[in-house]
Amino acid sequence: MSQPRRRTAATRVKAEYQHVVDFLEERAPIWQERMGLGHFEIEHHYLDTGSGLLLGASPKNRPAGIRCSFGATGDLTYTACVETRWNYQTADVYFFLASAVLWDNKRLDEILVHEYTHILTAVEQYLLETKLEEVASAEEMASTEFGILAQFYYDRMEMATENAARAIYAGWKGK
Ligand SMILES: [Zn+2]
Repeated sequence: MSQPRRRTAATRVKAEYQHVVDFLEERAPIWQERMGLGHFEIEHHYLDTGSGLLLGASPKNRPAGIRCSFGATGDLTYTACVETRWNYQTADVYFFLASAVLWDNKRLDEILVHEYTHILTAVEQYLLETKLEEVASAEEMASTEFGILAQFYYDRMEMATENAARAIYAGWKGK
């Protein structure tokens, strides 16, 4: 018998966020199956806060391997992010509920697909990050210069991810 490949970190969330968690938990196994991610072990983490605590103020301080979905502004800038260890076929998705609660279910569904698309393309992202590290160490870049270059790469990675996510979402419209 096969083991379940998805887990939810044991977390208690504020009552006003519970409907967000319930919706995402209902949709997650559906998208995992549709997107061919059944062989991945995906763990969901639900945080009561905005994204500031986990991600830091600037993209440069963000832990490697983490990509995000945009939310509103400030500490609510990111609604979710994902950390993928593609070589072990595991991923952790973090949902920042103070931001997530601002969206309706359709948008939450799109965000879920976006994060899972990052899991699909994690190998490409790894290449990008390796290349960035190489460039930074070879050229002894100033941190502002590095920040600009990193943003340049990440913006394109995000756009490619969002394009793919929209195509996937459109294919299942209304289902
Ligand atoms: Zn993203």
